[in-house]
Amino acid sequence: MSDSQWELLPPLPHGGKRAVQTLVIGGGIVGLACALRLQSAGQQVLLIEHERLAAGASRGNAGALAFADVLPLASPGILRQAPRWLLDPLGPLSLRPAYTPAMLPWLWKFWRASRPARVAASTQAQAMLLAQSAAEWPALLRLAGAESQLRDGGNLHLYDNAAQWRAALAGWEQRAAHGVAFQAIEGSHPIAALQPGLNPAIQHAVFTPHWQTVEDPLLLCRSLAQAFLARGGRLARASARSLLPEARGLLLQLGDDSLLLAQRVLLCAGPWSHRLAASLGERFPLETERGYNTTLPPGAFALRRQLSFPGHGFVVTPIAGGVRVGGAVEFAGLRAAPNYARADAMLAKARRFLPGLRTDGGTQWMGCRPSLPDSLPVIGPSPADGRLFYAFGHGHLGLTQAAATAALATAWATTQALPPTAFAPSRFL
Ligand SMILES: Cc1cc2nc3c(=O)[nH]c(=O)nc-3n(C[C@H](O)[C@H](O)[C@H](O)COP(=O)(O)OP(=O)(O)OC[C@H]3O[C@@H](n4cnc5c(N)ncnc54)[C@H](O)[C@@H]3O)c2cc1C
Repeated sequence: MSDSQWELLPPLPHGGKRAVQTLVIGGGIVGLACALRLQSAGQQVLLIEHERLAAGASRGNAGALAFADVLPLASPGILRQAPRWLLDPLGPLSLRPAYTPAMLPWLWKFWRASRPARVAASTQAQAMLLAQSAAEWPALLRLAGAESQLRDGGNLHLYDNAAQWRAALAGWEQRAAHGVAFQAIEGSHPIAALQPGLNPAIQHAVFTPHWQTVEDPLLLCRSLAQAFLARGGRLARASARSLLPEARGLLLQLGDDSLLLAQRVLLCAGPWSHRLAASLGERFPLETERGYNTTLPPGAFALRRQLSFPGHGFVVTPIAGGVRVGGAVEFAGLRAAPNYARADAMLAKARRFLPGLRTDGGTQWMGCRPSLPDSLPVIGPSPADGRLFYAFGHGHLGLTQAAATAALATAWATTQALPPTAFAPSRFL
Protein backbone atom coordinates (compact mmCIF):
# COMPACT_ATOMS: atom_id res chain seq x y z
CA MET A 1 0.00 0.00 0.00
CA SER A 2 1.44 3.42 -0.91
CA ASP A 3 1.93 6.03 1.81
CA SER A 4 -0.91 8.20 0.54
CA GLN A 5 -3.34 5.23 0.49
CA TRP A 6 -2.30 4.32 4.01
CA GLU A 7 -2.84 7.88 5.20
CA LEU A 8 -6.50 7.68 4.14
CA LEU A 9 -7.16 5.21 7.02
CA PRO A 10 -9.91 2.55 6.94
CA PRO A 11 -13.45 3.82 7.55
CA LEU A 12 -14.91 3.15 11.00
CA PRO A 13 -16.86 -0.12 10.55
CA HIS A 14 -20.65 0.13 10.84
CA GLY A 15 -22.26 -1.91 13.60
CA GLY A 16 -19.61 -3.91 15.45
CA LYS A 17 -18.10 -2.48 18.58
CA ARG A 18 -19.39 1.10 18.92
CA ALA A 19 -18.15 1.77 22.42
CA VAL A 20 -14.63 2.75 23.33
CA GLN A 21 -12.70 3.58 26.50
CA THR A 22 -10.71 6.55 25.18
CA LEU A 23 -11.51 8.34 21.94
CA VAL A 24 -9.10 10.83 20.35
CA ILE A 25 -10.59 13.14 17.70
CA GLY A 26 -8.04 14.41 15.16
CA GLY A 27 -5.09 12.71 13.49
CA GLY A 28 -2.65 15.65 13.59
CA ILE A 29 0.55 15.72 15.62
CA VAL A 30 -1.31 16.56 18.86
CA GLY A 31 -3.90 13.78 18.49
CA LEU A 32 -1.30 11.21 17.44
CA ALA A 33 1.08 12.08 20.29
CA CYS A 34 -1.80 11.90 22.80
CA ALA A 35 -3.09 8.60 21.38
CA LEU A 36 0.32 6.93 21.54
CA ARG A 37 1.10 8.16 25.07
CA LEU A 38 -2.34 7.22 26.40
CA GLN A 39 -2.12 3.82 24.86
CA SER A 40 1.35 3.18 26.22
CA ALA A 41 -0.10 4.04 29.66
CA GLY A 42 -2.54 1.14 29.29
CA GLN A 43 -5.60 2.90 27.83
CA GLN A 44 -7.64 1.36 25.00
CA VAL A 45 -7.63 4.10 22.41
CA LEU A 46 -9.46 4.74 19.16
CA LEU A 47 -8.31 7.74 17.11
CA ILE A 48 -10.65 9.09 14.45
CA GLU A 49 -9.65 11.44 11.65
CA HIS A 50 -12.10 12.77 9.09
CA GLU A 51 -9.80 13.31 6.16
CA ARG A 52 -6.42 11.60 6.13
CA LEU A 53 -3.56 11.23 8.53
CA ALA A 54 -2.04 14.65 9.35
CA ALA A 55 -4.40 16.41 6.97
CA GLY A 56 -3.82 19.83 8.53
CA ALA A 57 -0.86 21.93 9.65
CA SER A 58 0.90 18.86 11.06
CA ARG A 59 1.65 17.68 7.51
CA GLY A 60 3.76 20.45 6.08
CA ASN A 61 5.05 22.65 8.89
CA ALA A 62 8.63 23.83 9.28
CA GLY A 63 9.63 20.88 11.45
CA ALA A 64 11.17 22.88 14.31
CA LEU A 65 11.24 21.80 17.93
CA ALA A 66 11.47 25.46 18.83
CA PHE A 67 12.21 25.12 22.54
CA ALA A 68 13.67 28.66 22.62
CA ASP A 69 10.40 30.29 21.49
CA VAL A 70 9.28 31.20 25.00
CA LEU A 71 7.95 34.67 24.12
CA PRO A 72 4.25 34.68 23.22
CA LEU A 73 3.19 36.26 19.94
CA ALA A 74 0.60 38.36 21.75
CA SER A 75 3.06 41.03 22.90
CA PRO A 76 3.76 44.77 22.51
CA GLY A 77 6.61 43.97 20.07
CA ILE A 78 4.26 42.30 17.58
CA LEU A 79 1.73 45.13 17.94
CA ARG A 80 4.52 47.58 17.03
CA GLN A 81 5.60 45.57 13.95
CA ALA A 82 2.09 44.71 12.71
CA PRO A 83 1.14 48.01 10.98
CA ARG A 84 4.35 47.99 8.88
CA TRP A 85 3.86 44.32 7.94
CA LEU A 86 0.20 44.85 7.04
CA LEU A 87 1.15 47.59 4.57
CA ASP A 88 3.02 45.08 2.39
CA PRO A 89 0.34 43.05 0.52
CA LEU A 90 2.58 39.97 0.35
CA GLY A 91 4.42 40.65 3.62
CA PRO A 92 4.67 38.44 6.70
CA LEU A 93 1.20 39.40 8.00
CA SER A 94 -2.03 39.85 6.11
CA LEU A 95 -5.69 40.22 6.91
CA ARG A 96 -8.11 39.63 4.03
CA PRO A 97 -10.48 42.64 3.98
CA ALA A 98 -13.60 40.49 3.65
CA TYR A 99 -12.55 38.55 6.74
CA THR A 100 -11.77 41.58 8.93
CA PRO A 101 -15.21 41.87 10.63
CA ALA A 102 -15.09 38.18 11.65
CA MET A 103 -11.59 38.67 13.08
CA LEU A 104 -12.33 41.73 15.23
CA PRO A 105 -13.30 39.90 18.47
CA TRP A 106 -10.15 37.75 18.25
CA LEU A 107 -7.94 40.76 17.51
CA TRP A 108 -9.43 42.61 20.46
CA LYS A 109 -8.59 39.65 22.76
CA PHE A 110 -5.10 39.46 21.22
CA TRP A 111 -4.57 43.14 21.97
CA ARG A 112 -5.71 42.65 25.58
CA ALA A 113 -3.40 39.64 25.96
CA SER A 114 -0.50 41.85 24.78
CA ARG A 115 -0.56 44.03 27.93
CA PRO A 116 2.65 43.71 29.97
CA ALA A 117 1.16 41.87 33.00
CA ARG A 118 -0.54 39.31 30.76
CA VAL A 119 2.61 38.89 28.65
CA ALA A 120 4.70 38.09 31.74
CA ALA A 121 2.22 35.37 32.76
CA SER A 122 1.94 33.86 29.29
CA THR A 123 5.74 33.89 28.85
CA GLN A 124 6.02 31.95 32.11
CA ALA A 125 3.41 29.42 30.95
CA GLN A 126 4.87 29.07 27.46
CA ALA A 127 8.37 28.56 28.88
CA MET A 128 7.06 25.87 31.22
CA LEU A 129 5.28 23.99 28.40
CA LEU A 130 8.34 24.20 26.15
CA ALA A 131 10.66 22.95 28.91
CA GLN A 132 8.31 20.04 29.53
CA SER A 133 8.24 19.34 25.78
CA ALA A 134 12.03 19.31 25.61
CA ALA A 135 12.01 16.76 28.43
CA GLU A 136 9.22 14.63 26.90
CA TRP A 137 10.21 14.48 23.21
CA PRO A 138 13.05 11.93 23.60
CA ALA A 139 10.73 9.38 25.28
CA LEU A 140 7.98 9.97 22.70
CA LEU A 141 10.43 9.52 19.83
CA ARG A 142 11.68 6.31 21.45
CA LEU A 143 8.12 5.04 21.75
CA ALA A 144 7.64 5.75 18.02
CA GLY A 145 11.04 4.28 17.06
CA ALA A 146 11.77 7.66 15.48
CA GLU A 147 14.87 8.84 17.36
CA SER A 148 16.85 8.96 14.10
CA GLN A 149 14.44 11.62 12.73
CA LEU A 150 15.72 14.23 15.15
CA ARG A 151 18.26 16.79 13.87
CA ASP A 152 20.50 18.73 16.24
CA GLY A 153 22.31 21.75 14.88
CA GLY A 154 20.41 24.64 16.38
CA ASN A 155 18.89 27.59 14.60
CA LEU A 156 20.46 30.70 13.15
CA HIS A 157 18.25 33.80 13.41
CA LEU A 158 19.44 36.24 10.75
CA TYR A 159 18.93 40.02 10.78
CA ASP A 160 19.50 42.16 7.70
CA ASN A 161 19.88 45.39 9.62
CA ALA A 162 21.76 46.30 12.78
CA ALA A 163 18.90 48.25 14.38
CA GLN A 164 16.59 45.25 14.07
CA TRP A 165 19.24 42.97 15.62
CA ARG A 166 19.88 45.35 18.52
CA ALA A 167 16.15 45.59 19.20
CA ALA A 168 15.88 41.80 19.05
CA LEU A 169 18.68 41.32 21.58
CA ALA A 170 16.41 42.60 24.36
CA GLY A 171 14.03 39.76 23.53
CA TRP A 172 16.89 37.26 23.58
CA GLU A 173 17.89 38.49 27.04
CA GLN A 174 14.30 37.88 28.16
CA ARG A 175 14.48 34.35 26.77
CA ALA A 176 17.80 33.83 28.57
CA ALA A 177 16.01 34.63 31.84
CA HIS A 178 13.95 31.49 31.09
CA GLY A 179 17.02 29.34 30.54
CA VAL A 180 17.39 29.76 26.76
CA ALA A 181 21.01 29.63 25.62
CA PHE A 182 21.92 31.95 22.75
CA GLN A 183 24.95 33.50 21.14
CA ALA A 184 24.84 36.93 19.47
CA ILE A 185 27.03 37.08 16.34
CA GLU A 186 28.29 40.10 14.42
CA GLY A 187 30.07 40.03 11.05
CA SER A 188 29.58 37.97 7.91
CA HIS A 189 32.61 35.69 8.52
CA PRO A 190 31.50 34.19 11.84
CA ILE A 191 28.00 33.84 10.39
CA ALA A 192 29.40 32.06 7.32
CA ALA A 193 31.18 29.60 9.62
CA LEU A 194 27.73 28.45 10.77
CA GLN A 195 26.08 28.71 7.34
CA PRO A 196 28.11 29.30 4.18
CA GLY A 197 26.46 30.79 1.10
CA LEU A 198 24.53 33.63 2.73
CA ASN A 199 24.36 37.11 1.26
CA PRO A 200 27.35 38.90 2.87
CA ALA A 201 25.07 41.90 3.53
CA ILE A 202 23.76 39.87 6.48
CA GLN A 203 26.02 41.00 9.30
CA HIS A 204 24.00 40.13 12.40
CA ALA A 205 22.71 36.88 13.80
CA VAL A 206 21.71 34.99 16.91
CA PHE A 207 22.52 31.31 17.23
CA THR A 208 20.39 29.06 19.48
CA PRO A 209 22.25 25.77 19.92
CA HIS A 210 19.44 23.78 21.63
CA TRP A 211 16.87 24.22 18.87
CA GLN A 212 16.15 20.99 16.96
CA THR A 213 14.31 20.02 13.80
CA VAL A 214 12.74 16.79 12.62
CA GLU A 215 13.56 15.10 9.34
CA ASP A 216 10.01 15.60 8.04
CA PRO A 217 6.90 16.38 10.13
CA LEU A 218 4.72 14.09 8.00
CA LEU A 219 7.14 11.20 8.42
CA LEU A 220 7.04 11.79 12.17
CA CYS A 221 3.22 11.66 12.17
CA ARG A 222 3.36 8.40 10.21
CA SER A 223 5.84 6.93 12.69
CA LEU A 224 3.63 7.87 15.67
CA ALA A 225 0.62 6.33 13.91
CA GLN A 226 2.48 3.15 13.03
CA ALA A 227 3.78 2.71 16.58
CA PHE A 228 0.25 3.31 17.90
CA LEU A 229 -1.17 0.64 15.56
CA ALA A 230 1.64 -1.81 16.31
CA ARG A 231 0.85 -1.56 20.04
CA GLY A 232 -2.83 -2.37 19.48
CA GLY A 233 -4.30 1.13 18.99
CA ARG A 234 -7.15 1.65 16.51
CA LEU A 235 -7.14 4.34 13.79
CA ALA A 236 -10.22 4.98 11.67
CA ARG A 237 -11.63 7.48 9.22
CA ALA A 238 -14.74 9.13 10.64
CA SER A 239 -16.00 12.66 11.04
CA ALA A 240 -17.00 13.85 14.51
CA ARG A 241 -20.07 16.07 14.34
CA SER A 242 -21.37 16.66 17.87
CA LEU A 243 -20.98 15.47 21.44
CA LEU A 244 -23.76 14.65 23.87
CA PRO A 245 -23.14 13.86 27.55
CA GLU A 246 -24.88 10.70 28.79
CA ALA A 247 -24.68 8.80 32.07
CA ARG A 248 -22.69 5.97 30.44
CA GLY A 249 -20.24 8.24 28.65
CA LEU A 250 -20.02 10.84 25.91
CA LEU A 251 -22.09 10.08 22.87
CA LEU A 252 -20.45 11.19 19.65
CA GLN A 253 -22.53 11.72 16.57
CA LEU A 254 -20.57 11.00 13.41
CA GLY A 255 -20.90 12.48 9.94
CA ASP A 256 -22.82 9.39 8.71
CA ASP A 257 -25.30 9.87 11.61
CA SER A 258 -24.03 6.80 13.43
CA LEU A 259 -23.17 7.02 17.13
CA LEU A 260 -20.12 6.13 19.19
CA LEU A 261 -20.05 5.95 22.98
CA ALA A 262 -16.79 6.88 24.71
CA GLN A 263 -15.90 6.85 28.40
CA ARG A 264 -13.44 9.65 27.72
CA VAL A 265 -12.85 11.94 24.73
CA LEU A 266 -9.81 14.01 23.79
CA LEU A 267 -10.58 16.79 21.36
CA CYS A 268 -7.46 17.42 19.24
CA ALA A 269 -9.05 18.64 16.02
CA GLY A 270 -6.71 21.61 15.54
CA PRO A 271 -8.43 24.72 14.09
CA TRP A 272 -11.74 22.84 13.76
CA SER A 273 -11.95 22.01 17.49
CA HIS A 274 -14.22 24.91 18.50
CA ARG A 275 -17.01 23.58 16.31
CA LEU A 276 -17.28 20.39 18.36
CA ALA A 277 -16.84 22.21 21.66
CA ALA A 278 -19.79 24.41 20.65
CA SER A 279 -22.04 21.34 20.65
CA LEU A 280 -21.60 21.35 24.46
CA GLY A 281 -22.26 25.09 24.61
CA GLU A 282 -18.57 25.97 25.09
CA ARG A 283 -17.40 28.70 22.73
CA PHE A 284 -13.70 29.31 22.18
CA PRO A 285 -12.20 32.23 20.25
CA LEU A 286 -10.22 29.85 18.05
CA GLU A 287 -8.96 31.35 14.79
CA THR A 288 -6.60 30.16 12.17
CA GLU A 289 -3.30 31.78 11.24
CA ARG A 290 -2.71 30.42 7.76
CA GLY A 291 0.90 29.84 6.73
CA TYR A 292 2.54 28.99 3.41
CA ASN A 293 5.64 27.27 2.22
CA THR A 294 7.49 25.80 -0.74
CA THR A 295 9.45 22.56 -0.43
CA LEU A 296 12.36 22.45 -2.85
CA PRO A 297 13.91 19.16 -3.97
CA PRO A 298 17.26 17.80 -2.76
CA GLY A 299 20.17 19.87 -4.03
CA ALA A 300 18.36 23.22 -3.72
CA PHE A 301 20.89 24.54 -1.18
CA ALA A 302 23.55 23.10 1.14
CA LEU A 303 21.70 24.01 4.32
CA ARG A 304 23.42 23.15 7.59
CA ARG A 305 20.63 24.03 9.98
CA GLN A 306 17.32 25.89 10.16
CA LEU A 307 17.59 29.60 9.35
CA SER A 308 15.04 32.13 10.63
CA PHE A 309 14.47 35.61 9.23
CA PRO A 310 12.46 37.24 12.05
CA GLY A 311 12.14 40.61 10.30
CA HIS A 312 10.51 38.90 7.31
CA GLY A 313 8.46 36.19 9.03
CA PHE A 314 9.86 33.10 7.32
CA VAL A 315 12.25 30.22 7.95
CA VAL A 316 14.36 28.01 5.72
CA THR A 317 14.61 24.40 6.91
CA PRO A 318 16.31 21.22 5.79
CA ILE A 319 13.36 18.83 5.31
CA ALA A 320 13.22 15.34 3.79
CA GLY A 321 16.52 15.84 1.98
CA GLY A 322 15.34 19.12 0.42
CA VAL A 323 14.74 22.66 1.62
CA ARG A 324 11.45 24.12 2.91
CA VAL A 325 10.98 27.89 2.71
CA GLY A 326 7.94 29.29 4.47
CA GLY A 327 6.08 30.97 7.27
CA ALA A 328 3.92 34.16 7.24
CA VAL A 329 0.53 34.67 8.82
CA GLU A 330 -2.66 35.23 6.87
CA PHE A 331 -6.01 35.81 8.56
CA ALA A 332 -8.63 34.60 6.12
CA GLY A 333 -10.50 31.83 7.95
CA LEU A 334 -10.67 28.12 7.23
CA ARG A 335 -12.54 28.21 3.95
CA ALA A 336 -10.86 30.80 1.67
CA ALA A 337 -8.77 29.46 -1.21
CA PRO A 338 -4.98 29.67 -0.71
CA ASN A 339 -3.12 32.63 -2.18
CA TYR A 340 0.16 31.04 -3.24
CA ALA A 341 1.56 34.42 -4.24
CA ARG A 342 2.54 34.53 -0.54
CA ALA A 343 4.67 31.40 -0.94
CA ASP A 344 6.23 32.90 -4.11
CA ALA A 345 7.04 36.13 -2.25
CA MET A 346 8.88 34.26 0.55
CA LEU A 347 10.81 32.19 -1.98
CA ALA A 348 11.90 35.35 -3.80
CA LYS A 349 13.09 36.88 -0.50
CA ALA A 350 14.90 33.69 0.46
CA ARG A 351 16.72 33.83 -2.88
CA ARG A 352 17.91 37.33 -2.00
CA PHE A 353 19.40 36.15 1.30
CA LEU A 354 20.66 32.81 -0.07
CA PRO A 355 21.87 33.79 -3.56
CA GLY A 356 22.69 30.19 -4.55
CA LEU A 357 19.22 28.84 -3.70
CA ARG A 358 17.74 26.87 -6.61
CA THR A 359 14.06 27.74 -6.58
CA ASP A 360 12.78 25.42 -9.35
CA GLY A 361 10.82 22.20 -8.87
CA GLY A 362 9.19 23.19 -5.56
CA THR A 363 5.86 22.06 -4.11
CA GLN A 364 3.65 24.71 -2.51
CA TRP A 365 1.51 24.17 0.56
CA MET A 366 -0.80 26.10 2.85
CA GLY A 367 -1.63 25.07 6.42
CA CYS A 368 -3.92 26.41 9.14
CA ARG A 369 -2.38 27.05 12.55
CA PRO A 370 -4.97 26.70 15.31
CA SER A 371 -4.58 29.91 17.31
CA LEU A 372 -6.05 31.32 20.48
CA PRO A 373 -5.67 35.04 21.14
CA ASP A 374 -3.36 34.72 24.18
CA SER A 375 -0.88 32.54 22.20
CA LEU A 376 -1.36 29.62 24.62
CA PRO A 377 -3.12 26.35 23.85
CA VAL A 378 -6.18 25.06 25.67
CA ILE A 379 -5.16 21.91 27.55
CA GLY A 380 -7.54 20.62 30.19
CA PRO A 381 -10.93 19.08 30.94
CA SER A 382 -14.10 20.75 29.76
CA PRO A 383 -16.00 22.60 32.49
CA ALA A 384 -19.22 21.29 30.90
CA ASP A 385 -18.24 17.62 31.17
CA GLY A 386 -15.13 16.37 32.93
CA ARG A 387 -14.90 13.33 30.64
CA LEU A 388 -13.97 15.59 27.72
CA PHE A 389 -10.39 16.85 27.52
CA TYR A 390 -9.43 19.72 25.25
CA ALA A 391 -6.00 19.80 23.57
CA PHE A 392 -5.98 22.38 20.80
CA GLY A 393 -4.92 25.90 19.85
CA HIS A 394 -1.14 25.39 19.76
CA GLY A 395 -0.66 28.09 17.12
CA HIS A 396 2.91 28.32 15.86
CA LEU A 397 4.23 25.66 18.26
CA GLY A 398 2.00 22.60 17.90
CA LEU A 399 4.75 20.27 16.79
CA THR A 400 7.06 21.43 19.57
CA GLN A 401 4.40 21.30 22.29
CA ALA A 402 2.75 18.02 21.25
CA ALA A 403 4.95 15.92 23.55
CA ALA A 404 4.12 17.96 26.69
CA THR A 405 0.43 18.07 25.72
CA ALA A 406 0.40 14.28 25.42
CA ALA A 407 2.06 13.93 28.83
CA LEU A 408 -0.50 16.28 30.45
CA ALA A 409 -3.42 14.45 28.77
CA THR A 410 -2.09 11.10 29.94
CA ALA A 411 -1.61 12.32 33.52
CA TRP A 412 -5.23 13.54 33.49
CA ALA A 413 -6.56 10.24 32.05
CA THR A 414 -4.61 8.01 34.42
CA THR A 415 -4.39 10.00 37.67
CA GLN A 416 -6.91 12.85 37.22
CA ALA A 417 -3.98 15.29 37.56
CA LEU A 418 -4.96 18.68 36.15
CA PRO A 419 -2.71 20.63 33.75
CA PRO A 420 -1.47 24.07 34.88
CA THR A 421 -4.30 26.60 35.10
CA ALA A 422 -2.61 28.84 32.49
CA PHE A 423 -3.95 26.40 29.87
CA ALA A 424 -7.39 25.90 31.44
CA PRO A 425 -10.35 26.09 29.03
CA SER A 426 -12.23 28.18 31.60
CA ARG A 427 -10.11 31.25 30.80
CA PHE A 428 -12.26 31.75 27.70
CA LEU A 429 -15.62 30.48 28.93
C1 LIG B 1 3.70 27.23 7.75
C2 LIG B 1 3.67 26.61 9.14
C3 LIG B 1 4.87 26.33 9.78
C4 LIG B 1 4.86 25.79 11.06
N1 LIG B 1 6.05 25.45 11.65
C5 LIG B 1 6.05 24.89 12.89
C6 LIG B 1 7.27 24.50 13.49
O1 LIG B 1 8.34 24.58 12.89
N2 LIG B 1 7.24 24.00 14.76
C7 LIG B 1 6.07 23.87 15.46
O2 LIG B 1 6.11 23.46 16.63
N3 LIG B 1 4.88 24.19 14.88
C8 LIG B 1 4.84 24.69 13.63
N4 LIG B 1 3.66 25.04 13.04
C9 LIG B 1 2.42 24.88 13.81
C10 LIG B 1 1.98 23.42 13.83
O3 LIG B 1 2.02 22.88 12.54
C11 LIG B 1 0.55 23.31 14.39
O4 LIG B 1 0.45 24.00 15.62
C12 LIG B 1 0.19 21.85 14.62
O5 LIG B 1 0.37 21.10 13.44
C13 LIG B 1 -1.25 21.71 15.11
O6 LIG B 1 -1.45 20.32 15.28
P1 LIG B 1 -2.89 19.76 15.64
O7 LIG B 1 -2.77 18.29 15.73
O8 LIG B 1 -3.42 20.51 16.82
O9 LIG B 1 -3.82 20.22 14.43
P2 LIG B 1 -3.91 19.70 12.93
O10 LIG B 1 -2.61 19.36 12.36
O11 LIG B 1 -4.76 20.68 12.20
O12 LIG B 1 -4.69 18.33 13.09
C14 LIG B 1 -6.07 18.29 13.38
C15 LIG B 1 -6.66 17.08 12.66
O13 LIG B 1 -8.02 16.94 13.05
C16 LIG B 1 -8.78 16.52 11.94
N5 LIG B 1 -10.17 16.89 12.20
C17 LIG B 1 -10.68 18.15 12.24
N6 LIG B 1 -12.00 18.10 12.50
C18 LIG B 1 -12.32 16.79 12.63
C19 LIG B 1 -13.55 16.11 12.90
N7 LIG B 1 -14.70 16.79 13.08
N8 LIG B 1 -13.55 14.75 12.96
C20 LIG B 1 -12.37 14.06 12.77
N9 LIG B 1 -11.20 14.66 12.51
C21 LIG B 1 -11.17 16.00 12.45
C22 LIG B 1 -8.14 17.29 10.78
O14 LIG B 1 -8.43 16.69 9.53
C23 LIG B 1 -6.67 17.24 11.14
O15 LIG B 1 -5.99 16.15 10.55
C24 LIG B 1 3.63 25.55 11.74
C25 LIG B 1 2.42 25.80 11.07
C26 LIG B 1 2.43 26.32 9.78
C27 LIG B 1 1.12 26.56 9.08
